[in-house]
Amino acid sequence: MMKDGSIVFPGEKVATAEEVMAGEGTYEEDGIIRASVIGKLKIDRKALKAIVQPLTSMPLLLKKGDTVICEVKQIGDAMVIVRILHVAGIKRQIAGEKDGAIHISNVSQEFVEDLSKKFRIGDIVRAKIIKAEPAIQLSTKGREFGVIKAFCTNCRNALIRKTNTLECPVCGRKEERKVTDDYGMGELDKVIKNGDKNKKGE
Ligand SMILES: [Zn+2]
Repeated sequence: MMKDGSIVFPGEKVATAEEVMAGEGTYEEDGIIRASVIGKLKIDRKALKAIVQPLTSMPLLLKKGDTVICEVKQIGDAMVIVRILHVAGIKRQIAGEKDGAIHISNVSQEFVEDLSKKFRIGDIVRAKIIKAEPAIQLSTKGREFGVIKAFCTNCRNALIRKTNTLECPVCGRKEERKVTDDYGMGELDKVIKNGDKNKKGE
């Protein structure tokens, strides 16, 4: 079971069904309790329930330059569709469901040929809004941007970073992503300022 108060991501394992029941913000699948929203884990020891409290609940307008945390929903040939979950540095939730797109040319400084080697569905990504209207466009160029948490496509456990690859601690599968420098640290509120132009990175 994960520690009470941990920040958890959609799809992340928080406990097993033998330990607690699935409460609000969680679901059970094959005996595993997983978070369905991004938020703070609460273990109700009296009711023996796991609950995930969404980070906040006030509406917020998204604007160009915002650093956001999103979840990958769809991967196409030229575009990744993400759902924006959280704006870094601001303890408020998005008004309604907000989807955005990362065009293949905005993924990395380097040429990207195959988006499925950079992202997978369910990945948690830190991105920057480069255009807010009429549709939200995001970028993951720069080493602060990219996947901050990825899950094994085989068994869905969180992947651990090795030197040049990500590895599943459970089944040993190796996977590739466009990760951030701080992959796996769970840093949601890191705000990346503009003007880091000298900083070259992937
Ligand atoms: Zn695995």
